[in-house]
Amino acid sequence: MRLFLKCPHCKFENTFKSQVTSRIEYAMKHNTKIKKLNCENCNKNLEIPLNKIYAKESKHTYLFAGIIFLIGSVLVLIFWAKILSSSKSPMGLYALALILLVPVWIYVIIKKQERIRVSTFNYAYLSEEL
Ligand SMILES: [Zn+2]
Repeated sequence: MRLFLKCPHCKFENTFKSQVTSRIEYAMKHNTKIKKLNCENCNKNLEIPLNKIYAKESKHTYLFAGIIFLIGSVLVLIFWAKILSSSKSPMGLYALALILLVPVWIYVIIKKQERIRVSTFNYAYLSEEL
């Protein structure tokens, strides 16, 4: 995921990609409690404690969820209109109403996963003794 850290000199928000899901995992994988990075704005060498690194909810993920929601809704509506014209039973209509909820459901799940991913990273700090 994309992680962020603020430059203490110019307050620029630097970003980098990592496979880790928590600060603890980062510390174990790289065997350090410090992230070394050159500030993209002022070019200073930064040594930032991992506890200052944070994750943010990704706009791309929300955009992706939104597109799935839109395409899914259109597909469901086409499907729905087709079946509605051939089936008139109340059970069939009930099932179709549930199908209408699928794109909403996928959208909500994607948003929830993203929120969990970000809060998992942001709420677990490294203890000082490590
Ligand atoms: Zn800077």
